Order: sequence, then structure tokens, then C-alpha cells
Amino acid sequence: MEKKTFYITTPIYYPSDKLHIGHSYCTVATDAIARYKRLQGFDVMFLTGTDEHGQKIETKAQEAGMTPQEFVDHIVEGERGILDLWKLMNISNDRFIRTTDDYHVEAIQKIFKKMHDNGDIYKGTYKGKYCKPCESFWTESQLVDGKCPDCGREVEDAEEEAYFFKLSKYADRVQHLLEDTDFLQPASRVNEMVNNFIKPGLEDLCVSRTSFSCKASCRCSDAAPHRSTAASATSSDSSAIFHFRVYVPMKKHRPP
Ligand SMILES: [Zn+2]
Repeated sequence: MEKKTFYITTPIYYPSDKLHIGHSYCTVATDAIARYKRLQGFDVMFLTGTDEHGQKIETKAQEAGMTPQEFVDHIVEGERGILDLWKLMNISNDRFIRTTDDYHVEAIQKIFKKMHDNGDIYKGTYKGKYCKPCESFWTESQLVDGKCPDCGREVEDAEEEAYFFKLSKYADRVQHLLEDTDFLQPASRVNEMVNNFIKPGLEDLCVSRTSFSCKASCRCSDAAPHRSTAASATSSDSSAIFHFRVYVPMKKHRPP
């Protein structure tokens, strides 16, 4: 008889520095669940890894006098790096994904091309309050006492050209997926998503950052500008560099 499958992943961590105890806590918790499921006889796929793109990594690499790739290689594969840490902790992950892995880059390029060919990608301008340490844009209303709601640091006005995915077009389908299926559990999280994101009007998703560059980038010369409520369209340049944080699971299994 074929074994039932179980897929679990940690977040893919951000290697702008050595990991800390919070990352270990999360990975140990995930490891415990994976081991428990194996004991129950499931065919388990336990994934962890690193999200190796971002402005902070580029800044840190510059400070260290390295290229971004050298910098993340050092943090991930270097002595006492992330791989060493998980070995030390006896973590039983089946795969370790790096967003700079060739197969990941290739998959993202394919996904992006498909979205672009469907007319779901357009160029606009992203405006907001930016927290550099968190690499997050915030709207005025999200700020807490005028500061980053995540870390409490100062934010700065920022504006940049960006490419957007027409998520608003799919609002009905997302709502259906959330409310009429068990795609997301528990139900309290469904309510949170529907009330906070769908009901106020789902905004288009920024899928690129044009102001910095790392390896997993994807050139696209003719993404046509369209107007949308979330972004004001600007004229289309010759090319732009795209950055993605898309999880590409190796197996598409839903937890039982
Ligand atoms: Zn912050």
C-alpha cells in the first residue's frame, strides 16, 4: 500500500546574518512534527532553506567587501554557518532550498513568464514608507507612532518603479479558496485574511524591486504598463530586474 504523504516547511530564513535562537526554535518545532509524522508511517517531506535576495543582503555584502553571492555562501555553507547549525542540532530536513539554486531560479523565471504572457504583470510605481532593516514598505496607516510596526525603527519616504501582479483580478477566486475549501486552516486565520485583505479591496502585489540586484533575477524587456488603483503607471523602460520570493515545493502534497 502506498504511504500517505506529509509535507512541512519552515519559513526560508533570511541569511543577512548568522541565525539566532528564534530560527532554531522554529526549526526544532518543525523537526519534531516531521519526526512524529515519520513515526506514524507517513512519507514525510521536510523542507527548510534560505531566502537569499534582498537589499539588506546587498548592503551587508558591500560592508564585508564581498559579492552578495559570496556573502550568502559564507553565511549558509561556511564554517559554523546555517548548514553546520542544522547538523549540530540534528535536524532531519529532507531538502534544503536556497533561492539562488539554479533550479529555483529557472522555475521562477518560468512562472514569471507565464504570468507576464497572461497579461497579469504591469509596471507601476511603488510609494510608501520604507523600513530598511525589515525591507518592508508600509502605508501611513500601518505605522505605529510614525515608525515601523514590526521593529519600531524610523521609516523613510520611498518611491520606486516596480512591477505588479494583478492580484485584484483574482480576489473572487482567492475568497472562494479561503472560504469554501480547507486550503487555509484554522478558520480564525481565514477570517483574518478575508476581513483584513479581501473585504477592504485586495491590492495588486508588488513582485519586483528595481533598485538593487542579486543573482536570482529575471529580465523582461516588454512588460507593458497598465493602470491600476494600487499603482500609477509610468512609461516602460527597456528592461528591469525582477526579484521573487516564491516557494516552489518539490512535491505538491497537502498535509492529511
Ligand atoms: Zn522595521
